[in-house]
Amino acid sequence: MAKGGRRQKSDDWMDAGPLSGLEEGKPAVFDLKGERILLVRYGEAVHAVGAECPHHGASLEEGLLHDQVLVCAAHTAAFDVSTGIVKTPPALHDLPSFDVRLVEDRIQVKKRITKFKPPELRGESGTILIIGAGAAGTAAAVALRREGFDGRVIMVTAESEPPYDRPMLSKDFLAAGFDRSSILLENDEFFTDRKIDILMGRQVSEVNHGERRIVFMDGDYLQYDRLLIATGGIPRTPAIEGTSLRNFFLLRSLSDAEAVRDAIEEARRAVVLGAGFVGLETAAVLRERDLEVHVVAPEKVPLAAVFGERIGLRLRRLHEDRGVHFHLGRTAARITGDVSVDGVVLSDESSIGADLVVAGIGILPAVHFLEETGIVQQNAVPVDARMRTAVDGIFAAGDVARIPDFITGKTRRVEHWVEAMRQGQHAARSMLGVEEEYREVPFFWSKQYDTVIRYTGHVPKVRKIVYRGDADGGDFLAGFYRGKKLLAVAGIGRTGEFISAREVIARGSTIGPRDFKRTSIDLQEYLNNRSI
Ligand SMILES: Cc1cc2nc3c(=O)[nH]c(=O)nc-3n(C[C@H](O)[C@H](O)[C@H](O)COP(=O)(O)OP(=O)(O)OC[C@H]3O[C@@H](n4cnc5c(N)ncnc54)[C@H](O)[C@@H]3O)c2cc1C
Repeated sequence: MAKGGRRQKSDDWMDAGPLSGLEEGKPAVFDLKGERILLVRYGEAVHAVGAECPHHGASLEEGLLHDQVLVCAAHTAAFDVSTGIVKTPPALHDLPSFDVRLVEDRIQVKKRITKFKPPELRGESGTILIIGAGAAGTAAAVALRREGFDGRVIMVTAESEPPYDRPMLSKDFLAAGFDRSSILLENDEFFTDRKIDILMGRQVSEVNHGERRIVFMDGDYLQYDRLLIATGGIPRTPAIEGTSLRNFFLLRSLSDAEAVRDAIEEARRAVVLGAGFVGLETAAVLRERDLEVHVVAPEKVPLAAVFGERIGLRLRRLHEDRGVHFHLGRTAARITGDVSVDGVVLSDESSIGADLVVAGIGILPAVHFLEETGIVQQNAVPVDARMRTAVDGIFAAGDVARIPDFITGKTRRVEHWVEAMRQGQHAARSMLGVEEEYREVPFFWSKQYDTVIRYTGHVPKVRKIVYRGDADGGDFLAGFYRGKKLLAVAGIGRTGEFISAREVIARGSTIGPRDFKRTSIDLQEYLNNRSI
């Protein structure tokens, strides 16, 4: 059922146009009495599903269609076009689907009413406990039910909110007028229907794996049969004077974002510590809210470690053109103020006046409570390709997990929303005995002002970059290479080519640097012309 529980208004078949107007294998959108639907034709068979991604509402017309799977170009959620069923997050909902019939050359459709119904139950009982109700935890809980697990599913979160959209905190949510309910991933009914229990405001302080129980701060405990660690990260606090002053903020949780938003109302000048994604996105919103904004960071070029210098400079310009002041190659030495912050002194002893300071200087994986279990190594939880930790019955996913990386043959720990969800989904399947190796290509996006930059793949160290389009402008792709092997792609615009390139990487193949630069990237053409 669609978010909010929309109901079908009529049982009548509705005309959706002529079959001859529909190109083979090419999604086309039709407006059906105000509802946008997507039609896909394979020979005489036509599939009809909703045309908007349930994640953030992007039009699926731009998506990549292969093997009856439609991948949303905006954030890479994937759907089976023959049923509308979501295959991979970030969407958690299926697309509305329609019965289709052909009457001579006319396509007629009728909406199916679907209420969530788990597939055949596995007859498995027991309790699966998930510590964390963020991206990985939520996707895992939902996947357990989709896979037909009929035991107890309990998600535990230290926060006092049900699962919400964390990436929005440094974007639309910081802007004025965005309310709490619109940031929740799903409503209560969604979780109740799926019999997913959420324990909120409960901090876990210990995992006793011998007894298979988790212990809460207050000494209370819960037994489990299988356990998923999905605790994400704890934002780093700069080790300087002044971080306990009023109007100094970290930005990880919904309550952090609300506090920043409240402070914006009274502030005129802001300093952002850190020029990573959270820092720059926050700087963008602060500028949009008309504050004087200063960004302080030790690197010379923002995000050069991820994108290379050229794109880093392009992003810096994006902010400078809107009036952001950068103080790069420097760090904050102390935050000044009496009760509330009134400024920041930098490592070169220069100072900036400030009414609020936001630090976005990275996270530490939230693994401190796991030390006794022996599953933590170098501040993260190593897992195998089925998300299993070193201890039987304990799995990990999301920002805490270090996983084998099939692209580089090494391991990776990344901090991306979609990746965390997919790892959570995979862990759930693995907990139920599905024997598949995790082979997702990481993906993230960042939105700064109206510019959305996307990235897919994994590059431990940026070396060779090949550009396609205008890298200094607003419409380009950058291919990150090791020799002739394409490891990752970043870009602004060109979403069709971007997701095609991602699919090529997912298939373990490559696009040579010369082709990347000169030839349009179209998965179908690659499939036709090359042996991928
Ligand atoms: C402001 C911001 C903007 C972002 N923007 C983007 C973006 O645009 N694109 C992108 O790809 N990624 C973005 N990210 C990163 C993305 O949000 C994370 O990678 C993702 O949330 C990780 O998911 P997770 O499930 O591992 O952890 P989280 O989503 O952080 O969830 C962790 C959960 O564990 C709980 N928890 C932690 N410790 C305990 C404990 N001891 N006991 C009980 N519960 C506990 C927490 O309360 C929470 O429910 C952003 C992050 C932030 C903070």
